[in-house]
Amino acid sequence: MSDCSRDRDFVARLGGDEFTILLHQIQTVEEGNAIAQRIKEQLAAPFSLQGHTVFTSASIGIVVADYKYQDSAEILRDADLAMYRAKSLGKARHEVFHPEMYAETKRLLEIENDLHQAILQDQFVLHYQPIVSLTTDTLYGFEALLRWNHPTKGLVYPDQFISVAEETGLIVAIGEWVLKEACNQMYLWQSKYSGAANLKINVNIASQQIKNSNFLDILDQTIANTGLSGRSLHLEITETTLMDYKPETIYVFQQIREREIRLNIDDFGTGYSSLQYLKRFPINMLKIDRSFIQGMLNERENFEIVKMIITLSRTLKIDIVAEGIENLKQLQVLKALNCQLGQGYLFSKPLERESAELLIEQ
Ligand code: C2E
Ligand code: CA
Ligand code: CA
Repeated sequence: MSDCSRDRDFVARLGGDEFTILLHQIQTVEEGNAIAQRIKEQLAAPFSLQGHTVFTSASIGIVVADYKYQDSAEILRDADLAMYRAKSLGKARHEVFHPEMYAETKRLLEIENDLHQAILQDQFVLHYQPIVSLTTDTLYGFEALLRWNHPTKGLVYPDQFISVAEETGLIVAIGEWVLKEACNQMYLWQSKYSGAANLKINVNIASQQIKNSNFLDILDQTIANTGLSGRSLHLEITETTLMDYKPETIYVFQQIREREIRLNIDDFGTGYSSLQYLKRFPINMLKIDRSFIQGMLNERENFEIVKMIITLSRTLKIDIVAEGIENLKQLQVLKALNCQLGQGYLFSKPLERESAELLIEQ
């Protein structure tokens, strides 16, 4: 960080993984932005730590310390707010403080409080998005997607609350509910419709859930209580989960496989996709992120990436789901590439339970 700032600047570590840089005499905020940019570029390069390749990133908040500030604590507080904003907008970003951020912080705090109530008062519901076999044009299964029936705001989508749930750790309890509800629902469908016996249910699992020491117990309880076969359950995890795994995680993954439950990598291609993951972890399926599918027809590069992932997975005997298929042209190209499974608005948006059931019936 010292390398990225200027001689007259002051770099300090506040504690833990928090650092502060005091930029002396800047003319405009652009200078602050430029230094933030430099730090991000510097950190983007992987480095080697005890024989492992490690990636890191920083979220940076910038505040311009003008006449309205009375003391340093106020400046740090606002820099902190800007930093949290940067963090919530995604990894490795920088944001300049703006008074509106107070309102945003208040909003996030409200969500956090409401989320506690949501669990107690059973305000969550699942929607189900069909996953379709591109080779047989039949229903393969569903992905369970969480929605929040908020008492005043109506139906709230996960992009509004999942990150708060992750930051506060509430995701562990919420995720447990999702798992039970989704498995229970699939078991009911399989029992009710003979044609549904082979349908799969995909459940999104946050990294914190996998790291929780109770995870395997919860999985076993769910399987035992709902009666669903492990073979019908797919767990979707992200590359981030694989990236910051603990040695114990490998054991958890093996145990998941012992139960014939399948592991899918979600949003494949958006993180630090490493082909090593596919060798190191018992992965059964990749979901190609929708950004590649959507860019595939116009950008040669995206097309080549999709093609490469499909070819690679065939060699490794890993199944592929293309996410975010929105039009027929995309579908044709994916079929020509021998992609096995697809999901997207072209087939169906996520459906309420009743509509999903109608679809199964049909
Ligand atoms: P995801 O796992 O990548 O889920 C797919 C998202 O893409 C869903 O958004 C879905 O509605 C949307 N989608 C599906 N097909 C299309 C399409 O053709 N075009 C476009 N533009 N979008 C499409 P949703 O339901 O808002 O979920 C957003 C994210 O929230 C999910 O992304 C997942 O990361 C997270 N999430 C949802 N439910 C859960 C959950 O139960 N647990 C956890 N940990 N995360 C969840
Ligand atoms: Ca998913
Ligand atoms: Ca996805």
